[in-house]
Amino acid sequence: MKRLFLCLFSLFIIFPFFTARTTVFAEQQRVRLPVVMYHNVLNGRQGEYVVSERQLESDLIAIKKAGYTFVSAKQVIDFVDGKGSLPQKPLLLTFDDGNYNNMYYAFPLLKKHGACAVFNVIGAFVSASSNSSQADNPNYSHLTWKEISTLHKSGKIEIGNHTYGMHVYKPRFGVGQMEGESETQYRAAVKEDAGRLQTELSRRSGVTPVVFAYPFGKYTTSAKEELLSLGFRMLFTCNEGVTTVVRGDSSTLHYVRRFNRNGKMSTKTLLEEIESGKHIPVDS
Ligand SMILES: [Zn+2]
Repeated sequence: MKRLFLCLFSLFIIFPFFTARTTVFAEQQRVRLPVVMYHNVLNGRQGEYVVSERQLESDLIAIKKAGYTFVSAKQVIDFVDGKGSLPQKPLLLTFDDGNYNNMYYAFPLLKKHGACAVFNVIGAFVSASSNSSQADNPNYSHLTWKEISTLHKSGKIEIGNHTYGMHVYKPRFGVGQMEGESETQYRAAVKEDAGRLQTELSRRSGVTPVVFAYPFGKYTTSAKEELLSLGFRMLFTCNEGVTTVVRGDSSTLHYVRRFNRNGKMSTKTLLEEIESGKHIPVDS
């Protein structure tokens, strides 16, 4: 009788439990990760790199309504490292260039809607703002070292490295290789520049980023290798589309795609992009 009971127990209780666990485990090896890229948040002049407060709030509401959960870069990295899980429909928000309006307009809205985000900052701009008497103007200022520290301490904002001085078109296009530059010189230049911002952020803002955003989306294999040697785990491109992150495969974090949130686009179109994984061009 006892044996029969044990047998039935394993058949009806243990087996289904085990199978269900296996299915969940199998499903979570590969996760679809849409990432949205914002730049400025300002009112009254929407453009390719400018959205209004209203648009941002409408996006946040619509994204949540569609069943997505805002996740941090750390959660994604932990998942890949096998240290944690991700929600059913994760979504990552990023804001490039470290514009002060991200703190002034976006940060309160993110808090209001329980969202977190990555702010990718540019060292030269932060330095200029920190030494300027004209800081804290949403229209043109950039974040200061101190403001970055405040955002980091909030626990809601992760800071990303967007180069110290390579957010320029000339003489070098982003982290691209210059003509006549040797491979060794090129690699050293990329490493020195990104490393400089790491040092400054650690010293002045108390944060050491593990994510990096390529200026203008320009990337190369050599740059990637140098960035990884500096300890970066997640590298953001400007290639539109959705990335699949895979547990146990760090390389799935090395070319993370992002949808640019064009201010001339509706929230509905943005959501269509997120859901379909396909870029929908907007008339400008
Ligand atoms: Zn940028």
